[in-house]
Amino acid sequence: MRISLQEAADKLREAGRIVVTAHVNPDGDALGSSLALYHLLQKLGKTVQVLIDDDIPDAFGFLPGIEVIAKPDEEKYQADLLVLLDVSMDRVGRVIERCPAPILNIDHHITNDEKADYLYLDADRAATAEIVYQLAGALQVVPDKAAATCIYTGMSTDTGNFRYSNTTPFTMRAAADMIEAGAEPHVVSEALEKRSFKEVQDRARAMQTIEVCADGKIAGLYIGNDLYETLDTTEGFIDGVRIIDTVRVAILMKEVEPGKCRVSMRSKGVDVSSIAASFGGGGHIRAAGCTIEEPLAAAKAKLLAAVEKAV
Ligand code: 5GP
Ligand code: MN
Ligand code: MN
Repeated sequence: MRISLQEAADKLREAGRIVVTAHVNPDGDALGSSLALYHLLQKLGKTVQVLIDDDIPDAFGFLPGIEVIAKPDEEKYQADLLVLLDVSMDRVGRVIERCPAPILNIDHHITNDEKADYLYLDADRAATAEIVYQLAGALQVVPDKAAATCIYTGMSTDTGNFRYSNTTPFTMRAAADMIEAGAEPHVVSEALEKRSFKEVQDRARAMQTIEVCADGKIAGLYIGNDLYETLDTTEGFIDGVRIIDTVRVAILMKEVEPGKCRVSMRSKGVDVSSIAASFGGGGHIRAAGCTIEEPLAAAKAKLLAAVEKAV
């Protein structure tokens, strides 16, 4: 059931024990939104547990409160409300089965499955963190430095550091508010952009294997499992593909296990969320992803057939 922002805030106010979760393979928005909400709810005296059913990338170690995040274990979690951030019901791993509580879903993905008990969805917001910023207002809680840093990080990562088309005047005003509240842009960006020497070399090698097709409109990096296993990160690789001047759809395909490929897509003017959705994934018009359960060559052929049709 769709609800308003104020109704979402009321649900949070009414609950005493709240579990907060976000999507597996967590990014800056998933983690920033979850921890920001954690800090805001702590201020309201709530008992809050943040559960993420995946490993947390080391790069996010700077986020205030990161140490409170736990993976769900075998026990059941008693809560009055389970909050799903930056995700639908499908990509939260085992959290839903371990936490039998009414579900409040707060999201900005146009592909949200609308299956939660209560859904506040605003696809015009650049990041779920931007909605958490609005929620702070609705809850009448002023973000402290910790919450502001988390909100700023979610907004920064989902907008490519305030460069993508989802960056609005509202985004910039909200970010300015968060800086005023204590977020430090250079601290966030330095933490997120730093790479080891090996990672820089790996990236340079990977970039040499970019393949271009459809008169340059499609460019992709296709990383087989053997190569994937040698890489410490592929974070940011797709940006190196996206910036090619002729490209309308950029692809990063990684065979994360033999026979299982993770796909990221970025676009200029082509709706990649519907391409991703046709493979069971989702996302936004200009940034989407999916998983294709095929070896690299077969997954690549299937994806390219769909992308070629779209460009
Ligand atoms: P990324 O390429 O950065 O992993 O994801 C880009 C966008 O697509 C993000 O908003 C992310 O949440 C969404 N996305 C990526 N993979 C999937 C997926 O498998 N399913 C769904 N529903 N969304 C995805
Ligand atoms: Mn996300
Ligand atoms: Mn997001």
